[in-house]
Amino acid sequence: MNASNLTRPNMVIAVDGPSGSGKSSISKECANRLGFKFLDTGAMYRSVTWFCDTENLDEEDLIIERINNKDFKLDISTDPLKDQVKVNDEDVSKIIREDEITSKVSHFAAMSKIRQFLVSKQRELVKTSNSGIIVEGRDIGSVVLPEADFKIFITANDDVRAKRRG
Ligand code: C5P
Repeated sequence: MNASNLTRPNMVIAVDGPSGSGKSSISKECANRLGFKFLDTGAMYRSVTWFCDTENLDEEDLIIERINNKDFKLDISTDPLKDQVKVNDEDVSKIIREDEITSKVSHFAAMSKIRQFLVSKQRELVKTSNSGIIVEGRDIGSVVLPEADFKIFITANDDVRAKRRG
């Protein structure tokens, strides 16, 4: 991608793809080179998972009640050079990447009310972005931002994906 071709202000680029395809690293690097923001939606699902785990929550309605009750304040950096995520002012940037959270995230990500909550937060972050933004995650082009200016699907062969996932 060449920054000079991307003249539309507040351009939205949706990047989708399976885990281990490298979509996050590629998106971050592109956002950095283009001077765009970067939103890692996986980190948002990981943050909810961390919150539920810490608070011993497992029932969808109870989770959404707590979240809507403003018990869950999520601050996610959209600076591609700053990988920071805070939940209720606690820096969870590292802990949400640990195996324990990774192993639990798909359980919470399958809950439709959690998805609704995060999708609306993702759209809000894009809407209020005062520059171009690259948004990365598995449902971004199809569900979250179907009107994105560009939709990119990144994939890699199984060996490469397995290696990347460690
Ligand atoms: O991309 P990452 O591996 O951090 O995503 C963690 C998990 O969050 C995914 O495996 C998936 O279960 C969930 N997720 C999702 N929708 C997204 C992003 C992530 O369901 N847009």
